Amino acid sequence: MTLVRPHGSIGHVSEFQKMLLSHSLQPGDRVVDATLGNGNDALMLLALVGNTGFLYGFDLQAEALNNSDILLHHHGYSNYKLFQDCHSKLSEYVEEPIKGYLFNLGYLPKGNKLVTTLWKTTEIAISQAMNTLSPGGFIGIMTYPGHESGMIEDSEIQFFFSKIDQNKYQIAETQFINQKNNPPKYYWLSKRE
Ligand code: SAH
Repeated sequence: MTLVRPHGSIGHVSEFQKMLLSHSLQPGDRVVDATLGNGNDALMLLALVGNTGFLYGFDLQAEALNNSDILLHHHGYSNYKLFQDCHSKLSEYVEEPIKGYLFNLGYLPKGNKLVTTLWKTTEIAISQAMNTLSPGGFIGIMTYPGHESGMIEDSEIQFFFSKIDQNKYQIAETQFINQKNNPPKYYWLSKRE
């Protein structure tokens, strides 16, 4: 897959994600998609780390693993491992150090809305991700405050991140503030070199 660079106006936080990822990843990097869903983010990560890199993917749903596996395989990748497990157990599976993590929180659009991420396990997963990052590594997190459980998770994340030592990590938050219905937010944590 060729990564299509955003052009013209930017109207969704996922376009910031694309720019940050293409700025931050190199061929050969090891990355994690903590919420595979249909595998679109995993495919974007593999396009940037190439055949010499490696991707670990997590999702609770067998269907998500299956859809992601088909997509990645279809694009010619075999340098990945997918786990049907909660991302709060990620440190049992990944080999360190990790250059970048993505968390696309909430539930899968058009999927089972009952299988949604919850702060209790998201917090554990983010903490483990921070402990396994290489210097200069990052965690990108998309939150969905437009629905109730997404709003709770978003405010927990904001509180959690606001307490993190700025000498160790830099954390930014992005949202389109003039869009209606609380549009998605994007958090970007980077570990200082
Ligand atoms: N990145 C995906 C969209 C992710 S949607 C894409 O590009 O298509 C969120 C996903 O998180 C859902 O598939 C859901 O099954 C998964 N999920 C929810 N709770 C989880 C948990 N605790 N651990 C791992 N995956 C989880």
